[in-house]
Amino acid sequence: MIIAIDGPAGSGKSTIAKMIAADFGFTFMNTGSFYRAMALAVLRSLGGDESGAGAAVPDLADEAKWVAFARTVPLEYRQDGMYIGNACVEPFLRSDAVESIVAALSAIVPIRHLINDKIRAAAAQLNIVCEGRDMTTVVFPHAECKIYLDASAESRAKRRFEQGTSALSQAEIRKTIEERDAIDRNKKEGSLKIAQDAFYLDTSDLTIMQVCEKIKDKIHDKGLFME
Ligand code: C5P
Repeated sequence: MIIAIDGPAGSGKSTIAKMIAADFGFTFMNTGSFYRAMALAVLRSLGGDESGAGAAVPDLADEAKWVAFARTVPLEYRQDGMYIGNACVEPFLRSDAVESIVAALSAIVPIRHLINDKIRAAAAQLNIVCEGRDMTTVVFPHAECKIYLDASAESRAKRRFEQGTSALSQAEIRKTIEERDAIDRNKKEGSLKIAQDAFYLDTSDLTIMQVCEKIKDKIHDKGLFME
């Protein structure tokens, strides 16, 4: 069974998806990690350190070059997170360097196709709660349960700032979030949009527990879990 969640950066998708997965004994899958790990590999190939910092700026307009490169990157999603080859890269995926190129890199259509295949392969035979931008629309259009989590740019920037993973100010984080939103909403393929049959929830003024309860109610309403 697939519970698919989409929404913009910082809308609480990861936290919520993780809690729902734990509650139902499902596997949690953060699909942004695939794109982030690919972005990290790009930055490392351009002289960046483990977190991608210090890399030369990639020329993402040269799509053919980065598609060929992406095919050589051994990305793997394991129980404890994202790997490149045998190295777990989870601690580096939320660096400012990765954040600065991930949305633009993920707009390259053949790279999306490559990653979609990896996501579907990783999800095969599992009960999963996955979250991203195009889970409900492109990757799993037949998911048993579809949810769209939204929140204002202000509250999303505040949440990211409070996570403490960025050296940027809250105003700067808001600017990068808005820039990523613009790219995510205007992609040629896999753009962020609300699926017609998704349950829409604005989380700006809700606590994590309130969001979880509303989603669990929805899942029960759909008769997916009757226990
Ligand atoms: O969800 P997260 O913020 O970690 O995703 C990082 C970036 O990866 C997003 O800004 C988005 O551009 C891209 N992404 C995507 N499709 C997904 C998940 C993430 O394009 N399914």
